[in-house]
This record gives sequence, C-alpha cells and structure tokens, in this order.
Amino acid sequence: MDPILDLREVSKVYGSGETAVQALTGATLQVRAGEVVLVEGPSGSGKTTLLSIMGCLMKPTAGQVMVKGRDIVQLKERDMPQVRAGTFGFIFQGFNLFPALTALENVAVTIRMKDPRARKVHVEAARLLGLVGLGDRMHHLPADLSGGQKQRVAIARALACSPPVILGDEPTAALDSKTGLAVMKLLQSLAREEGRAVVVVTHDHRLEQFSDRVIRVEDGTVLSDRPSLAPEPHGRSGPTNPAVAIRTGLEVGRNERQ
Ligand code: ADP
Ligand code: MG
Repeated sequence: MDPILDLREVSKVYGSGETAVQALTGATLQVRAGEVVLVEGPSGSGKTTLLSIMGCLMKPTAGQVMVKGRDIVQLKERDMPQVRAGTFGFIFQGFNLFPALTALENVAVTIRMKDPRARKVHVEAARLLGLVGLGDRMHHLPADLSGGQKQRVAIARALACSPPVILGDEPTAALDSKTGLAVMKLLQSLAREEGRAVVVVTHDHRLEQFSDRVIRVEDGTVLSDRPSLAPEPHGRSGPTNPAVAIRTGLEVGRNERQ
C-alpha cells in the first residue's frame, strides 16, 4: 500500500544568518493508512516542526513531502489550505475549544469551516461526538467538561469531514495519565476501525502500547523508527512485562466506563 505521507530527507531552518535555527535535518519517514505512529524525543528536538511539515502547516527548507502522492513542496501556497482540509485533522495539547460554544457547536463550526457546503452539519457533529463517547454531553460548554471529555470533543472535531490522517501534538500532555491512556486508546480504535493514520507526538512512553511504530527524534534527526513493543491481547512478542500490561489494561478499562 502506498503511504499517505512520504517524507524524504526533510530539513527545516527557521530564520537566517546568525539567528538561523536548524530544527530538522534529513528526516525520512512514511505513514500508511490505519497506522498509529508515535513521535517521541526531548523538548526542542524538532517534533512539532516535523508534525507541522507533515500536516502541511509549513513547507520544509529542503527535501520532499508527498501527501497522498502529491508533491507538497511544489504546491502553490494558495492550494495548501485545500490539501490541509482534505487530508488532516489536528489535535493539540490545549484542546483549543471555543469556550462560548457547546461541544456540538464546536464540532459543527469545524465542519462548516472545512466544508462550507456541508449539509446536516449538526447531525454529523452529533454522530462524531457519539463516536468518541460523548453523545450524552453534546450540549455542554467546555467549562462543564472534564479534561478528558474536552480532548474527546477535540478529537471529534479533528474527525470533521473524515480526514485520512489525524495529527496530535502532545494531545495527552494536559491530561492525567489514566485519561491520557484512554484518549490514546480511542485514537488507536479510530485507526483500527476507520482506517485512519494517526501520528501522535508524546513524552509518555506508556502510550506505546496503543501504537504500531515509534519514531525517535533527537537534535532534529530521526534517530530510530521501529515497531512498537505493544502488549497486544493475542501476544505480540517483545520485552514487555505482562504484569504491567494487564494492570494498565484494567486501569484503562475502568477509566473508560466512568
Ligand atoms: P519540539 O516540538 O520537539 O519541542 P520544535 O519543533 O518546537 O521542537 O523546535 C525545534 C527547534 O526549533 C527548537 O530549537 C526551537 O527553539 C526551534 N524553533 C521552533 N519554532 C521556531 C520558530 N518559529 N522560529 C525559530 N525557531 C524555532
Ligand atoms: Mg513541540
């Protein structure tokens, strides 16, 4: 299967002259439909830069970025928003919900923004909120939702107009660890059930159990790209600790039912 995202030797320099910052150097990676990919690395290592280039929020200084087989570097700036809207849903650490709008309206606004001709916007927004388990909280304002529920609204919003790729920049960082795991599990199930590619930047190693691959970034370089050591129910091999796997699984399950 051809990758949805194909980055080759991608570099990014911010600024110029003496203040130039080499944020990314020669990054090469591919992402395929249905895959959950974690990007980890220390603060300042270039993770957000990498995710922003993947998501066509900016162009690289050098290298090739192919999105669904289309060369983004050659694309005109005015054609970028359309590629972005048709390909990506974004989730951020800070939720970025409109505080005066209900969960339903927050999702509806995004659908209208991405597709001004969309019909039955509220029906679709309600469906997406149902998908993330918030069917009974649709009419709540963000202030009346927990952190985990707010991030679920943000995920529902990222799903607006069915983008094939979901990109999350530390989407669990503002959540307590159990809620963070539950959010990651939800993202994994969306990848599994709806064939979406999910790329998540994180500092939390425990999210690895809900991913397929881990990309390690340091000093702007992709250091490694390896399969996840995920404790799967049907026993994928790897140096995992079964006791920890079982305990974590139970914790997530309990949290999900609350
Ligand atoms: P991470 O997300 O891993 O913390 P970033 O991609 O945000 O890393 O940053 C990588 C490097 O690029 C850092 O040294 C950071 O200070 C620098 N950087 C990020 N954004 C900008 C910018 N807009 N202008 C100048 N330097 C930047
Ligand atoms: Mg960052």
